[in-house]
Amino acid sequence: MKTSDIVIRAAQLRGQTELNDIAIHDGVIVAIAPSLAAQGAEEILVDGRLVTESFANPHLHLCKVWTLSMAEDIARADYHGAGMGKAMAAIEAASHVKATYAEGWILDNARRAVALAAMHGNLHIRAFADVDSKAKLEGLNALLKVRDEFRGIVDVQVVAFPQDGILREPGTRELMREAMVRGADVVGGIPWIEYTDAAAAEHISFCFDLANEFDKDVSMLLDDAGDPSLRTLEMFAIEAIARGWTNRALAHHCRAMSQYPKPYLHRLIGTLKAAGVSVVSDPHTGPLHACVRELLADGVNVCLGQDDISDAYYPFGRNNMLEVVFLAAHLLWMMSRDEIEQLYDLATFRAGRAMNVELKIAVGSPAHLVVLGERDMLEAVRYHAAPVHVISHGRSVDLAKMREIAGRPAV
Ligand SMILES: [Zn+2]
Repeated sequence: MKTSDIVIRAAQLRGQTELNDIAIHDGVIVAIAPSLAAQGAEEILVDGRLVTESFANPHLHLCKVWTLSMAEDIARADYHGAGMGKAMAAIEAASHVKATYAEGWILDNARRAVALAAMHGNLHIRAFADVDSKAKLEGLNALLKVRDEFRGIVDVQVVAFPQDGILREPGTRELMREAMVRGADVVGGIPWIEYTDAAAAEHISFCFDLANEFDKDVSMLLDDAGDPSLRTLEMFAIEAIARGWTNRALAHHCRAMSQYPKPYLHRLIGTLKAAGVSVVSDPHTGPLHACVRELLADGVNVCLGQDDISDAYYPFGRNNMLEVVFLAAHLLWMMSRDEIEQLYDLATFRAGRAMNVELKIAVGSPAHLVVLGERDMLEAVRYHAAPVHVISHGRSVDLAKMREIAGRPAV
């Protein structure tokens, strides 16, 4: 009788009426059928529980996780220390934290956050490391180490991210280039925070030059404010087309879209489709969000991201994409069963597609999957509990070990 590495027995797959067995060998799904004869070196009996592709998180500020209390301390000191003259704006507190950036503590925090991701079956992360005159390459170096440590369990794509701009922050061009030389996976950008549209265009151009030189994908935070005159998403998509970077340019946030006039929005959607630009939305981390429903209806790939975990911008987060789905159901008001299923897509295969990672329960696909504790999608989203079993690259993830790394609950 044929032997596989793993056989999952009696799985409830999405959209199927019958229960199925799933055989996995050499990291790949090799068979799916109601009753497989093959034996598994590891047999997992799931008794009708929901088994799906694993989760992915295309947007996480991994160098900032668990800096909330640091930011609060600094903000408090400012508040008292400057005669109450300083605003406690999140962005200012966050930038003060960066003055204390050191690879060591960032590494500790990031390891815990990635272990939490593994526990929640969130196996692909696009992780931003701030690269600027304050952070230097401290965060980047830490994230490269975390990427190497978790390779094969959680695949981390490290983004070199010029959070404070490129033109307005002297020295950033050189640091960004050095970040790519050191092995960053993705070129990041944030053109809308430059002082002028011309500077934003130059920012975008610089990033695509770098992507071209190192043959890497591009990820940019775009138009992240309630200002309908912001246009960097469109500039980004047009540049992607011009450079031949179709399906390699990922747009994040794009909150200004919610205030665009409808005719412009529809023209923009056409440009996004031509560029193969996917949009990551994190509706729980700001009062506005991209037009998720309209983008989906018109055939743009959309997905959800965690964005932040306990930092100056957002006080919660566990790298649990089911929790993000639960929040998005409320914030996007997508509550029907069909809409909840659709939101689940946004945290699984659509998020994978945005990062150029294949997530699919199909014969021949890489075996990245989760066994949820529940038998029904609604229940799974309702409780947004961690999966009972996680498989990455065809191997069972040691959840007890991940729990140990994640450690005690942090603030
Ligand atoms: Zn963000």
